[in-house]
Amino acid sequence: MSISDDISANRDLILNRIGEAAQAVGRSVDSVELVAVSKRQPEARIDAALDAGQRVFGENRVQEAQQHWAERREKFSDLELRLIGPLQSNKVTDAVALFDVIESVDREKLARVLASEMSRQDRQLRLYVQVNTGEEEQKSGLAPAGLPAFLSLCREELGLEVEGLMCIPPVEEPAGLHFSLLAKLARENDISKLSMGMSADYETAIQLGASSVRVGTAVFGSRD
Ligand SMILES: *Cc1c(COP(=O)(O)O)cnc(C)c1O
Repeated sequence: MSISDDISANRDLILNRIGEAAQAVGRSVDSVELVAVSKRQPEARIDAALDAGQRVFGENRVQEAQQHWAERREKFSDLELRLIGPLQSNKVTDAVALFDVIESVDREKLARVLASEMSRQDRQLRLYVQVNTGEEEQKSGLAPAGLPAFLSLCREELGLEVEGLMCIPPVEEPAGLHFSLLAKLARENDISKLSMGMSADYETAIQLGASSVRVGTAVFGSRD
């Protein structure tokens, strides 16, 4: 099979499994969005995913995302690009210009710089707060206990609307515990969207309320 056939078949399979996982817990098939994670994937596979009809993509580095998407953006007016990796303040100008959604908002300085840059560029991006549910030292994301204060800062002081929460569970723990915690934090803080679940655990995430799943290798194959 060609790369295009492979990726189209992978995507169809995942969309089916997403639909089944949603229906199994009484949710509608279209209540979960597939975010195809195209980081470190060859150009031909990205084009194949576009050919297959995929329009929502996740990237974890600003510069690589510009290489992948700056030109393709011109051709596909219905693309939606999501930044799912850490964002440094000095990359915010480029990130605001390129992305539609930033899922890794996790500290005051970044929220402030984003607010002023979005107003300067007159672009309203959709924002997710990344929560470090496993409280891992090396991982980005806000500690769960800090979430209420951080949300007040975003909402009240900076006038930012927070669409959702995002997490990346620790590799060595059952992901479901972290997905449940993220769902609980969202309920307590009046947030409706949850970005959680990757290739290995997206069905679990959907059972626990994911509104979008970030799937890389299961769509595209293994990364460079
Ligand atoms: C790479 C990445 C993914 C996709 O991981 P796969 O295991 O390839 O599905 C999802 N979320 C984040 C934040 C990532 O960096």
